[in-house]
Amino acid sequence: MSNYHYDIVIVGAGTAGACLASHVALSSPDLRIALVDAQAQAPCYSDKGYDTRVIAVSKATEAQFRALGIWDVISARRACPYQHMEVWDGEGTAGVEFDSAAIREESLGHIVENSAIVAALHERLASLASVEIIRSATVASLTLADDALAGTTIHLDDGRSLTADLLVGADGGRSSIRTLAGFDVVEWAYGHTSIVATVETELPHQFTARQRFTTEGPLAFLPLSPDCQNQQYCSIVWSVNTDIAGDLMALDSADFCVALASAFEHRLGRIASVDRRASFPLKQCRAKRYVKPGVVLVGDAAHTIHPLAGQGANLGFYDVDVLAQEVARACARGLAVNDPSVGRRYERRRMPHNLAAMSAMEGFKRVFGSDNLHLRLLRNEGFRLANRFPGLKGQLSKIASGAF
Ligand SMILES: Cc1cc2nc3c(=O)[nH]c(=O)nc-3n(C[C@H](O)[C@H](O)[C@H](O)COP(=O)(O)OP(=O)(O)OC[C@H]3O[C@@H](n4cnc5c(N)ncnc54)[C@H](O)[C@@H]3O)c2cc1C
Repeated sequence: MSNYHYDIVIVGAGTAGACLASHVALSSPDLRIALVDAQAQAPCYSDKGYDTRVIAVSKATEAQFRALGIWDVISARRACPYQHMEVWDGEGTAGVEFDSAAIREESLGHIVENSAIVAALHERLASLASVEIIRSATVASLTLADDALAGTTIHLDDGRSLTADLLVGADGGRSSIRTLAGFDVVEWAYGHTSIVATVETELPHQFTARQRFTTEGPLAFLPLSPDCQNQQYCSIVWSVNTDIAGDLMALDSADFCVALASAFEHRLGRIASVDRRASFPLKQCRAKRYVKPGVVLVGDAAHTIHPLAGQGANLGFYDVDVLAQEVARACARGLAVNDPSVGRRYERRRMPHNLAAMSAMEGFKRVFGSDNLHLRLLRNEGFRLANRFPGLKGQLSKIASGAF
C-alpha cells in the first residue's frame, strides 16, 4: 500500500462486501477501493465435501451475478435449481406448494454453497485493478468527520491508518463499524438456534425445497446436487429453541438422523447420514439508520433476520446493487461518493423493503410459534386458501423466488 487514501473503504469481504466491491469496480472504474477483512486467506471453494452453509439464491440475485459475470462460474460448481417448494403446517393438515411454472421460470431459485459464491466473487475481484484487498486486518477505531464530505479515518489493529471518502460497513451481524460509528440498533434474541448440516436421504429430493413449520420452529430441507443426477443430498436448516438445539447437537450421528427423519415426517424417508453439524444462535438486529455522514451499512451489518425464508444474504445483495447504482449515479453527475444524496437515496430505496421482509419473517415466526388453537386454525386455513387461488399463489411464488 503506497497510498492510504481510497474513495471507498469496505470493511468485510463476505458475500455483501465482496459483491459491493465488484459492482462498484465495474460500474465506477475510476474509483479506488480498499476491501478490508479479518480473514488471512482468500476464500476458496472445494468440491470435496459440501459446505455446511448454503444460500437459496433468488432470481433477482442470480440476475446480479450474471451482470457481474460470475453466474457461469457458480452454476458450473454446485448450484442446484429448485423447481418446486412445499411448505406445510406440521401441526395441521394444510400446506402450500409453489411451482416455477406459475411464474413462467425454469426454477424458483438455486441452492448454492456459501463458499462457492464468496470464492467466485473473490476470483472476480482478482481481475479488477481498482480494488485492493487488505487481509488479516480488523478495525480498531474510527475518526469520523462532522461533515460527510470531509471523509473518515480508519485505524487498523496493526497500526496502519486508511482514509476514505466513503466507509462501508459490510462486516456482518456483529459489525464493529456499526458499533464504532455509533449506529443505534433494535435487537432481540429469538431464543432459537439453527442447526445446519448436509444430510443424505433415502428418497430423491426431486429438486424441491421443503419446509415444515411447527411451534418448535421451522425445519427446511434444501436440495443439493453434485451433477443433477444424484438427488440424495440436502442441506438442512433446523431452527429450534436453544435448549433443544443443545440436546440435538449432543446426539451422536445415528440418533440425530433418527430424530431428524421423525421431525421431518419421513417425507424423504430415512436419513442415511449426516455430515458435520454447525449451530447458529438467531437474533433479529436492525440498525435504525443505515447512513451517517461518510458511513453506510449494508448486508447483515444493517439487518439480520431469521433464516426461515432464506432471504438474509439476498437482502444484502439487493442493498449492494442499490448502493453501487447510487455511487455510479453520483459519479456520472460529478458528485463526490460521499455526497449526502448517495446515502439518503440508498437508505430510502432499501430500508422499506428490508423492514417489510423483516416484519414478514417476524409474523411467520409468531404465527407458527403460537400454540393458541384459534391461531393454529387460522394458519391452517391460510395455507388452504393460498393453495386454492392461483393468483395468490403466483404472487407468493414470486415472493418465494425473490422476484418482488
Ligand atoms: C443458519 C442460517 C441459514 C441461512 N440461510 C440463508 C439462505 O438460505 N439464504 C440467504 O439469503 N441467507 C441465509 N442466511 C443469512 C446469510 O447467511 C447472511 O445474511 C449473510 O451471510 C450475510 O452476509 P454479509 O456479507 O453481510 O456478512 P458475513 O457473511 O457475516 O461477512 C462478514 C465479513 O466481515 C468480516 N469481518 C467481520 N468482522 C470484521 C472486522 N471487525 N474487521 C474486518 N473484517 C471483519 C468477516 O471475516 C466476513 O468476511 C442464513 C443465515 C443463517 C444463520
